[in-house]
Amino acid sequence: MGANVLRATLDDDVSGLLVKEPSDEAATIYLNSDDHERRQRFTCAHELGHLSRRGSIPGERLGYVDSRDLESRTGKNPEEVWANQFAAELLMPAAAVRALWAQGESPSKLARVFGVSPAALEVRLSNLGLS
Ligand SMILES: [Zn+2]
Repeated sequence: MGANVLRATLDDDVSGLLVKEPSDEAATIYLNSDDHERRQRFTCAHELGHLSRRGSIPGERLGYVDSRDLESRTGKNPEEVWANQFAAELLMPAAAVRALWAQGESPSKLARVFGVSPAALEVRLSNLGLS
């Protein structure tokens, strides 16, 4: 998608940012370097969701600040809900989750396989009607 992805020192309650100034050719995603790597992956996928929904339009400004409770948030902001669903689909494809779940794999094993946090996996299982 052409975005730059950087790890940075961010405020404790911020998990990630998506920034694109009108003069920028590409958007930049900043990930909180203090977050666990699995959380950073989800945050990156979430920001890509914002980018894919809005598109990267030359001359347009984009700015999103996402807070630490991203994965478990049941937010009502449709754009945030959409970005979370995008991230879940990207990192935990439904067919793969269903196949492993049907084999009796534990939630903690699935979280490791998909490289996501236990919280993100739990939300995904719930949304797929598996738990
Ligand atoms: Zn967001």
